[in-house]
Amino acid sequence: MTRTTEEIARFCEDVYYDLDFREAKRSKAEMGGFAIGFMPVYAPREIVHAAGALPVGIVGAGDWLEVIRGDAYYQSYLCHIPRSTIDMAESGRLDFLDGMLFPSTCDVIRNLSGMWQLVKPETYVRYVDVPQNFDDGVGGDFWEHELRTLGKELGELTGTAVTDERLRASIALFNENRSAVNEMYALRRDEPNRAPTSEVYLITRVGFVMDVEEHTQLVREYIAAARAKSPTELDNARVVVCGAFCEQPPIGLLKTIERSGCFVVDDDMLLTTRWFTEDAAETGDPFRALAHAFVHHTVPTAVMYAPEAGRGKALVSRVREARAEGVIFAAPSFCIPALLDQPMLTAELDRQEIPYTSFKYSENAGQFHPIREQTGTFADTMKLWSVA
Ligand code: SF4
Repeated sequence: MTRTTEEIARFCEDVYYDLDFREAKRSKAEMGGFAIGFMPVYAPREIVHAAGALPVGIVGAGDWLEVIRGDAYYQSYLCHIPRSTIDMAESGRLDFLDGMLFPSTCDVIRNLSGMWQLVKPETYVRYVDVPQNFDDGVGGDFWEHELRTLGKELGELTGTAVTDERLRASIALFNENRSAVNEMYALRRDEPNRAPTSEVYLITRVGFVMDVEEHTQLVREYIAAARAKSPTELDNARVVVCGAFCEQPPIGLLKTIERSGCFVVDDDMLLTTRWFTEDAAETGDPFRALAHAFVHHTVPTAVMYAPEAGRGKALVSRVREARAEGVIFAAPSFCIPALLDQPMLTAELDRQEIPYTSFKYSENAGQFHPIREQTGTFADTMKLWSVA
């Protein structure tokens, strides 16, 4: 039976709100009984998959979990995602995970890997120290070594060795998935009334708890349904959302931005899915292929080193490619990488006369009215006076 975009999005929204992770548990059982969690922003899911395990993105608990125990572990001013992650671990919701990967996103996530070892001493934990040097012989060699070590350890955990053949097959599946997701993003960029962000986000997000092949099919189904429908024409302002790469904004906040008169035509949410700007090679040494893709084809983001001038220019390029009229800086409250980046980014936007506005959120924010007023006024001013 053919589903509409609304029906597909409704299914994804149910999965999004399910803090018992039933979809992940189902996929884990079908894949052979292992699941490895990973925190934002980037983790090498191909390695996890090649070890016969389901990679599960843990990106917070949103606005539907009252965090109590997690608050005891962290200062009250910190961002919210480490607290909701600990709370979910403490309450047993993440007991189905056989291991956790903590990428070197920031100090908070690094500390969270230590907290996790206190809370779940029986689980496999690895701090994934991604390189900040993009020379093949330095960062590339280092990362290849890290990937091989991770593959060896996961293979021992699951009993399925990460052979070159298995890893090449996993790389091909994730390349295909990225290609489908990029096609969906391109559709949103070109016809945002057909594929609104509030739907595209949910479709992308379920890929964090679902087998990659099944997710690719779901994305393709959504694209076909979006192309088939007759959308309402809207004269919204086209904006890029920047800074939401780790702790995720609640879905209500994304809907609020849209209802205030904005089309989000590019964003940096759920970046793991779109991390490589070009495919990793499906032939040759697969560990080297992943290391090469990381060193040469990583999407620009605040958690990766870039020369100061490069940061603003990369954002301006995204604005131009998306034919956006302005930028909304939406950063989690106290997100050090996102907030430290903003002055460099806004300086370049000022030079290019691209309008922007900014606010902070937390994943459990429930009051969107002030943001609706702010982004609505921003959309109005762009429509009336913008020169970008
Ligand atoms: S939201 Fe920002 S500060 Fe918090 S864990 Fe993520 S990257 Fe670090």
